[in-house]
Amino acid sequence: MGKILTFIQHQDGQVSRNSLEALKAAQELATALSHSLAGVVFGLESPPEQLTGLKLDEVLLVPASELKEYTQEQYIAAMNAVIAAESPELLLAGHTYQARDWLPRLASRLERPLVSDCVGYQLDGQITWVRQIFQGKINADVQTTPGLAIVSFQSGAFRSDDLEPGSPTVRTLSVDLSGVTLHVRPGDRFQEGKGTVDLSHAERIVSVGRGIGDADNLHLVRDLAAALDAELGSSRPVVDYGWLDHDRQVGSSGQTVSAKLYLSVGISGAIQHQVGMKNSGCIVAINKDANAPIFEIADYGIVADLFEIVPRLTAAIKEHRGT
Ligand SMILES: Cc1cc2nc3c(=O)[nH]c(=O)nc-3n(C[C@H](O)[C@H](O)[C@H](O)COP(=O)(O)OP(=O)(O)OC[C@H]3O[C@@H](n4cnc5c(N)ncnc54)[C@H](O)[C@@H]3O)c2cc1C
Repeated sequence: MGKILTFIQHQDGQVSRNSLEALKAAQELATALSHSLAGVVFGLESPPEQLTGLKLDEVLLVPASELKEYTQEQYIAAMNAVIAAESPELLLAGHTYQARDWLPRLASRLERPLVSDCVGYQLDGQITWVRQIFQGKINADVQTTPGLAIVSFQSGAFRSDDLEPGSPTVRTLSVDLSGVTLHVRPGDRFQEGKGTVDLSHAERIVSVGRGIGDADNLHLVRDLAAALDAELGSSRPVVDYGWLDHDRQVGSSGQTVSAKLYLSVGISGAIQHQVGMKNSGCIVAINKDANAPIFEIADYGIVADLFEIVPRLTAAIKEHRGT
């Protein structure tokens, strides 16, 4: 039986959503391949609460004090030691900013492949990883040579609310990091500006595109979002015109979201937009052009003039919700 390690990134014990999404992929793969599954947690003496009820064979704690705060070199040394001790077939992780920083160097140190920013996989005798290239225009299939593969998953590629429940055992692994010399020290942690919108955690998003025509018409989608208790998102032109701030932009150069409901209004569905929202649970599209690409991925499509349909939809939702 092989072993899968999944790296659990956390901030003071709060597990990052990307890590939980990667864990979902790990759960699927562990079942399909009959592998054991361990979640590796750095810098904590007890497992994060979010892991204790989840299907994992074990939580592997590496509590070394040097790992309490992220540093690239200590993380690499610690994971090197974990891999030497555990001999996994796979090391999986969410494709976070931290992962982008340390996983390539870890892979290079181990002389093993890193398949980064994957959106899925196929199993057919061996694993084929799927990752997007050319701004999401093409999906590339990637296979690795036998032995350890390191794989990171794009935000939203798997759904963390589908995680299987279980009760993992907990094991602690000591690693000696005293010999690690730090050449790179992180500065202060980046703080989002006050009022910055984090669409990646929004359950419902009403997203507006160039079809809205003018900033003066935005009240239509703001009313619809308010009626649905949804966040307001947008395509890129709406931000480029200065109608909304960049933190509202969804897509390859904006945020990646996986809302339960994504309602797009006057958005054509260009590939750069789709890569940021196509993993949403239920996609509803309003567009007057029946051939708009957004309808190819929409669960419900409304071919209509938004100026006609949006106020009526808002009124109907308000009436239904009694608000
Ligand atoms: C490197 C790069 C990165 C990019 N990153 C992003 C990104 O992060 N996010 C992003 O969104 N885009 C991004 N883009 C731009 C992307 O290619 C598209 O240009 C953009 O998504 C189009 O936005 P849109 O759908 O709002 O506008 P359009 O493509 O102009 O579509 C407007 C839609 O509104 C419909 N419409 C018009 N009037 C009405 C009406 N009255 N009622 C109903 N429907 C109506 C039209 O039929 C049309 O389908 C990027 C492009 C590049 C090259």
